[in-house]
Amino acid sequence: MVVRLTDAWQEILQRRAGPTGAGAHPQPVRELLGEMAAAGVLMQGNIKFNGALVLQIFGDGPVKVAVAEVQSDLSLRATATVVGSVPAGASLSQLVNPGNQGRCAITLDPKDRLPGQQAYQGVVPLFGDRQEPLERLSEVLEHYMLQSEQLDTTLVLAADDRVAAGLLIQRLPVQGQNNLAGTGPEGSNPPGTVASGGVSREHGIGLDEHYNRVSVLARSLKREELLTLDVDTILRRLFWEESVLRFEPQMGEHGPRFVCSCSRERVARMIHSLGQADADGILAERGRIEVGCDFCGQQYHFDPVDVAQVFATPGGPPPVNPQVH
Ligand SMILES: [Zn+2]
Repeated sequence: MVVRLTDAWQEILQRRAGPTGAGAHPQPVRELLGEMAAAGVLMQGNIKFNGALVLQIFGDGPVKVAVAEVQSDLSLRATATVVGSVPAGASLSQLVNPGNQGRCAITLDPKDRLPGQQAYQGVVPLFGDRQEPLERLSEVLEHYMLQSEQLDTTLVLAADDRVAAGLLIQRLPVQGQNNLAGTGPEGSNPPGTVASGGVSREHGIGLDEHYNRVSVLARSLKREELLTLDVDTILRRLFWEESVLRFEPQMGEHGPRFVCSCSRERVARMIHSLGQADADGILAERGRIEVGCDFCGQQYHFDPVDVAQVFATPGGPPPVNPQVH
């Protein structure tokens, strides 16, 4: 699977840098967010989850939180909270993991959550098997996907201010015409597992020579190539010896695009959850409550009459669909 975000990614950057936005992020943060956006689309496109896929990094460096959220219709948004200065050309570990306490969380939040139903969340550290800090987001996510899906996964990501792009290769757990074999060498399955057909997924990780060949080819893709070449050229350059079947690309309103799910109702609920005393305190100090959306730059203003209305309904404003932020 290949993703190439252009308009959607540029809109995210422009809204952040624009007149109502909070100001452009430093370049290393923009690159991280772009890679997260591309990875989020690839992961959502891969599992086709009916709800939001939220990719979050909780950092212990200048980037406190970075988040990319992709809905099942591939609409997406992304933002980051940066505290302190970011050195030019900062590495991933300098941004989010100087103390090796950073972590990456992947949340699957169902669209129509039943009462009491929890979102699923998986968390992986930002270091490898020997506690060494990882310097590529792709490595962190490969680790997560190996854990959660027990499938060989290869991920290549890159972003600049024009394009956020990614390539995902995964060994499918099924055997069939045109699929690579699902398991490792014959006769090497542990007792009690199924020899073929992909039921035993974990066995066979890293053992399939066809997958490994395709993976090595995919990893040879350079950042510059991923950012500048069109998809057909990328596929031709990487896999010119393979027979490649390409599906119709999802573009326009069926493809990845920027959409922010913030609303005045949501902000009203947030003000209500502050409690009347705190809300009145802000009004006394500033005359009104102002809330800006970090994702899209939209500003919401609540004057004393608006705030009174928020607290006029017993139980607060009507609930909106729960979302992870
Ligand atoms: Zn918004």
